[in-house]
This record gives sequence, C-alpha cells and structure tokens, in this order.
Amino acid sequence: MDFPSDLIRFLTKAERVSVLTGAGASQESGLRTFRDSQSGLWAQYRPEDLASPEAFARDPKLVWDWYAWRREAIKGVRPNAGHYALVEMENKIPTFTLVTQNVDGLHRFAGSRNLLELHGNILRVRCANCGTFTETWGDDTESVPKCERCSGLLRPDVVWFGEALPRAELESAVNAAREAQVFFSIGTSGVVQPAAALAHAARNKGAVVVEINAEPTPLTPKTDFAFHGKSGEILPELVKAVWGNNSR
Ligand code: NAD
Ligand code: ZN
Repeated sequence: MDFPSDLIRFLTKAERVSVLTGAGASQESGLRTFRDSQSGLWAQYRPEDLASPEAFARDPKLVWDWYAWRREAIKGVRPNAGHYALVEMENKIPTFTLVTQNVDGLHRFAGSRNLLELHGNILRVRCANCGTFTETWGDDTESVPKCERCSGLLRPDVVWFGEALPRAELESAVNAAREAQVFFSIGTSGVVQPAAALAHAARNKGAVVVEINAEPTPLTPKTDFAFHGKSGEILPELVKAVWGNNSR
C-alpha cells in the first residue's frame, strides 16, 4: 500500500501518538465484533441484551454463561500482526498511549505497555456486590459462583452498556487524546461513547487524525487520513513504511 508522504512525515517527527482500538483490531485474531452476528448457541441474542446490568439482574446465569463462552474463545486466540505493529510503534514514539475498548487482553499479551483498558478485561472477575476481585471460582454449571467474602454474585470485570467507565482510565485517555500530535482510530465503529469522543478531542486540539477500519464510519469525514481494509495488514505496512523493517 502507498501511504501519503505527509502522513509518513508526521509520524517520523511525532513525539506524542495516541491510539484507540475497538473490536475490529481483534477480528483477525478470530474474535467476533459486536456487529458480526452471533453464532451457534447465542445467535438468538443481541450482545446489547446480554452486556448490561439489567440483563444480569434478570438472568445472571445467562449472562455469566455468555461471558464464560467468550472467555473460552479468547483463551484459544493469539494477537495478530496489527497488535504487534502497535508494539513496534510504541517502541519508536517517545510518548505513546494505547486506549482500547477491547476486553480480550490481546494488546497486553502482544506486549503493549502504556495501555488503558477502558472497558475492563473479560479474564478478570469481581463481586457484583462488594467489588472484591477473584481469579478463581467454584463450579458454575448450575448457578453463578458467589463471592467468598459476602456471597454476592460474581460478574466479569467489564463495563456494561449503561455503566460508567473507570474514571482514572477515562481521564488518562482524554488527556492522551488532547496531547496527541497524531491520533489513530482503529477497528472501532465510532458509535460507542464516550470512547468515540476521543478522536474529536484530539482533532479539536489539532492532532492529525487517522482511521483504519474495514469500512467507512461516522468518523471518516472528520479524519485527515482514512484507510479502509484490515488493521492486521495496514498497520504492519504503515510501520514498515515509516520506520523500516527492523530498525529499533
Ligand atoms: P464494533 O463491533 O461496534 O465495531 C467494530 C468495527 O471494526 C467496525 O467498524 C468494523 O468495520 C471494524 N472492523 C472489523 N474487522 C476489521 C479489521 N479486520 N480491521 C479493521 N477494522 C475492522 O466494536 P467497537 O467499536 O469496539 O465497540 C463495541 C463494543 O464492543 C465495545 O464496547 C467493546 O468493548 C466490545 N467488544 C469487544 C470485543 C473484544 O474485546 N475483542 C469483541 C466484541 C465487542
Ligand atoms: Zn462480595
């Protein structure tokens, strides 16, 4: 792919770069985005009807089982070339912040260091009542496992529709967007707030905004550069075009 020389120049000189990723960044690892239809057992449900406090209150076991199924899917996948290209980029840029809406932990697995997981991490579990974190829980075939401390129900440590984002992470993400000279929006449909507002915050402060997505999004008209295709292909090519093959 040919990248505009302006973009190459901006990136070569950039001291501060911030990146926002969404479910599309994990698509090539084999994880479904929310916009793909669900498969098998879960085809009859919309994610919006499972990933909410109301859904958990109504039928905790159904929600627990959906997350258990997604957790299993994640255990079998690996980061893709796009995740690794972002690690390469972090190695080149003095101040680099990666903000993700993904809960799959693949950026950390790939080696990204300055990472803000805005929507939590599906591999962690906490008590819905007292908030205590746990890494182990009992048998969940019959019912949702309970907190050892207060007997509250355990739930995934993710942000559900209608819940607030973790304040410290959100604040850091907004600051990183405002300070960025180049801001990337990658594999996110740009409709989930407030993460989608980050690109606008960056743009308002004068950042060059770059989108990489399988298809145009509501953000596309507001970007300086938009590349439509797979992030696992475009990102490694871009990193190679800017910094060469293996110069660290
Ligand atoms: P989304 O499902 O709304 O949008 C995904 C976007 O990725 C779409 O715009 C699509 O065009 C694009 N895309 C698909 N494949 C791509 C590829 N190979 N390369 C580049 N782009 C690609 O997801 P979202 O914007 O992240 O927001 C929805 C919510 O979904 C978030 O809250 C997130 O937490 C949650 N979610 C997370 C995961 C995960 O952790 N892997 C998976 C599904 C949903
Ligand atoms: Zn508890």
